[in-house]
Amino acid sequence: MKYLFLVLTILVIASVASADRLVRLFDISRSSVMNMIEDGYDVANMDLRNGYVDIMLPERDIDQAALLSHNYEVLPREWGELLPENSKGAGFYYDPEENWAFWCSLADNYSDLADTPVTIGQSYESRDIYMIRMTSPTSGYKPPIYFSSLIHAREPGGNSVLIDFAMWLTSNYDGGDIRAAYILDNTTVYFVPIANPDGYAENMPNGGNQRKNMNFTLGDGIDLNRNWGYMWGHDNSGSSPYPNDETYRGTAAFSEPETQVQRDFIMSIAPIAAMNYHSYGKWLIYPYGYEDTTYTPDQSTFLAWSAVMTAQNGYFAGTAPECLYTVNGEQNDWMYGGNGEQGIMAFTPEVGTSFWGGQNDSSVIVANCADCRPMNIYICMTAPGFVGISGESEVGIEPLLSLNSVYPNPAISSASFRITTSGSSNVNVSIYDTSGRIVNSFESGNLVGGTSSLNWEVPQEIPTGVYTARISDAAGNCDSRRFTVMR
Ligand SMILES: [Zn+2]
Repeated sequence: MKYLFLVLTILVIASVASADRLVRLFDISRSSVMNMIEDGYDVANMDLRNGYVDIMLPERDIDQAALLSHNYEVLPREWGELLPENSKGAGFYYDPEENWAFWCSLADNYSDLADTPVTIGQSYESRDIYMIRMTSPTSGYKPPIYFSSLIHAREPGGNSVLIDFAMWLTSNYDGGDIRAAYILDNTTVYFVPIANPDGYAENMPNGGNQRKNMNFTLGDGIDLNRNWGYMWGHDNSGSSPYPNDETYRGTAAFSEPETQVQRDFIMSIAPIAAMNYHSYGKWLIYPYGYEDTTYTPDQSTFLAWSAVMTAQNGYFAGTAPECLYTVNGEQNDWMYGGNGEQGIMAFTPEVGTSFWGGQNDSSVIVANCADCRPMNIYICMTAPGFVGISGESEVGIEPLLSLNSVYPNPAISSASFRITTSGSSNVNVSIYDTSGRIVNSFESGNLVGGTSSLNWEVPQEIPTGVYTARISDAAGNCDSRRFTVMR
């Protein structure tokens, strides 16, 4: 017994001694980082604008850092892992029990706005994955907007942002902030706060930095954010075929129960937009992630929305290859889909500057939530108008009046609308913003019929954003096309 105790003590000491640390390597090139990813290093964040990359290294291997870069810094332990000292839960982050209690309390306190949590399926270790639906009692079609966090279990910053936003929506609905009422009266907001419950449970209460799920059949878990079904396994860049790598994608697309559960739920509610939260690095990432040369058909919309979303918080916006590196089998790519077949305008914010940095300092969490709340508000207020107006165009009927293109798109100071009319007519052009408000309009004068171009000087007061040009004639024919203004 004494011997067993001694062995256990040594094991515990050994596991503490080999805990992982975040190490920042300076003066490193993009190609070196790519090689490190290929070699299976756990790259936590890279910021080549500021000339560094953060990697997770077992403490005993920190001298490797000197081999990778002569200029490196070992980052504070509490940035990389939940400290064993936080033996009760997750410090200032909400542990699984505190999450459950919080979401239940919302339903108790705001029963007209928030439903009680509903289980949508089980994890590999049979923990419940649950969602919370929020909307006001107003009727009509209220497009769903999807929020998730903790698909990577060591990234609790995003979970705090969801909690903050849910609290803001409910507490401001009744007269606090008119935008909260607008959102809950016009949309249905869904939260999946713990998308990888096994990994999150693994990280507490005695410290941890588990990222993947807990299916250890072949290695040490599957990276659930490389396990989605669009372009899964496209190549080995940022998505590993090796079971012990942190970006191991699994044996097949949707091989894991956690991704199956989210997939089925998303398909059942058909959201129009999504914020899938991760940490860290202060990025706002949108599809596609799988190739650095392929953009979605909605690239100009992603560009414009993300420009507005990041105007205040200074997050850098772009596709995964533009911000970090290419990845495949990632959630946004599947949610948007090929040629927008699912068409969900899905974003991944990478919150803050560390994984666990707020565990003993609530001001870190407060600042991260303050950075992200306006992005959540923007997406909830913008996305419904975006689908509403574009849905007007008819398909399959030879149009008597059509708006063929807007060029250039994005427009900076002027744009040209290419219009086809069936005969001579005077065409009215109205420019709508995403809330459906007309921001400018003009008449074409008499067109002779056929195709012509109308030039439009973008008025000074029109800000960066997505707009819809709608053309109509006296006979009631109309057509519309989305375009983007960049200032
Ligand atoms: Zn992540």
